[in-house]
Amino acid sequence: MDETNLSRLGQPRDTCEPIVTFIDDDGKAEACTRLLPIFEAKNERFVVAVCPNRLNTTGYLTQSQLRELRDHGHEIVNHTFNHVGYSKVRDKAVWDEDIRRAKEFLRENGYTHDILVNPYEQGKSKKAISIMQKHAKCAFNSMGQNKPDAFLPYRIRRIAFGSWVPGYHKYAGAPLEYYKKKVDYCFKHRTWLVWMVHSAVQPTEQDLVLAQLIDYIQSLGIEIVTASEGFAGREHLARSQSLLSMYRPKIKKYLGNLFRA
Ligand SMILES: [Zn+2]
Repeated sequence: MDETNLSRLGQPRDTCEPIVTFIDDDGKAEACTRLLPIFEAKNERFVVAVCPNRLNTTGYLTQSQLRELRDHGHEIVNHTFNHVGYSKVRDKAVWDEDIRRAKEFLRENGYTHDILVNPYEQGKSKKAISIMQKHAKCAFNSMGQNKPDAFLPYRIRRIAFGSWVPGYHKYAGAPLEYYKKKVDYCFKHRTWLVWMVHSAVQPTEQDLVLAQLIDYIQSLGIEIVTASEGFAGREHLARSQSLLSMYRPKIKKYLGNLFRA
């Protein structure tokens, strides 16, 4: 074990800053027409998870809009080529190929190709995780708050914003106070709060709520980051966890010997 690993082992978990990421799913045109003006006005960035096979079709972003978003500093990531989820198709090869094709498109066009936002939840299936690992360094994969003391790169959680909010009608969204509580948890426990946005179906009133929510996040001094930046800020937690589990028996043995001597 080298010194770098040793210092990671001893790294206190609370060195993480609270961070927030907004991910808009599916690559609908509203990412440009509705989200872009809101985020530009606040001088913040967001992430768009695209299915490349849907670009340039009715209701979806064009390739030039996608470039425009990227050129403004927003991040484009993988949402599979045809919106295929393993939990739906139950065919490893089909899902694998769909992620690969999207990754190829993203890489060829200079977008982020190694971050996956799964359509639908994939659960804890080892099979599913092994495919994600093949194509991506991390995956957004289920719903809820991320924990303060753990980072599982292929099970990053998100909270719905604007639509699909539990307890509310699927297209209604929630009041500002509901979202603020989620931010408060992130601030208090220094977590990575990731929002799942479907800008195309959220009611227009939620656009205003979104702007107010960004104001609130900024007022607490919480940084709004891209998916790549968020991952970079949490990656060491995953490593220190695996190192701990790897070295725990050896450390125990070493300490045992020490006290017997
Ligand atoms: Zn989707």
